[in-house]
Amino acid sequence: MKLRKATAVAATALVLSVTATACGGDDSKSSASGSGSGGGDKIKIGIKYDQPGLGLKEPDGSFSGFDVDVATYVAKELGYDADQIEWVETKSADRENALSRGDVKIIAATYSITDERKAKVDFAGPYLLAHQDLLVKSDSDISKGTDLNGKKLCSVTGSTSAQNVHDTIAPKAQLREYSGYSECIAGLQSGAVDAVTTDDSILAGFAAQDKYKGQFKLAGLKLSNENYGIGVKKGDTKTVNKINTALEKMVSDGSWEKAVEKNFGPADYKNEPAPKIGNIVK
Ligand code: GLU
Repeated sequence: MKLRKATAVAATALVLSVTATACGGDDSKSSASGSGSGGGDKIKIGIKYDQPGLGLKEPDGSFSGFDVDVATYVAKELGYDADQIEWVETKSADRENALSRGDVKIIAATYSITDERKAKVDFAGPYLLAHQDLLVKSDSDISKGTDLNGKKLCSVTGSTSAQNVHDTIAPKAQLREYSGYSECIAGLQSGAVDAVTTDDSILAGFAAQDKYKGQFKLAGLKLSNENYGIGVKKGDTKTVNKINTALEKMVSDGSWEKAVEKNFGPADYKNEPAPKIGNIVK
């Protein structure tokens, strides 16, 4: 059943991508792209600003992380050089609206593909498979989901991580929902919360920061499957198909693996292999 669904998705994607190639044309530089001042030569891309290794605004104003590298590669394939990208912060709870309103053309922000979100936006990908995990203080005895009941747990509003806590992982935990994970990490360090939960990819990036070295540990639980997709405005199938082609190329020419090593290597994050386009792991 699962396999059949995945095959059908892949087949549809193939048909659509062939159609798009046959039709040609390029409208990726119109509408939501462009600076709004009539220039039309920029693309606005939504990322996270506070997630080391994935999407981070550095003190010098530059941007780093796996999502940034994937988005930069994709933008190039869409016809935009790196200096034509305008990065926009899209927090977890703002992503669907940012796409619907046209604030950004695409979003690469640890954005899991879910059925609920697919009702509002379209996704290309997936381009990474992560798993929900817990980050706790090094001396904590919290080691599994049920240890969280009655404990203070931090996650982010509008994330699948917070939703999963309510639904399955620890409905009796005292969940604090902040607007970004960096606030949760500050809470963990100060003792305001007992644990932070989100994707292992994100937690590993924080744990490896110099200022936190040795202070935190990941529980190593695979509490969910998070299939990262690139969000696009609902109905913009043409852009979805172009991004899927770009992502396939990024994997086949070795750039995906290079970006993994560069961004996850320092955090010692053991990532899953590159996912196949259209293959959502439930
Ligand atoms: N990947 C999960 C999500 O899209 C959690 C990380 C995030 O909030 O960006 O909700």
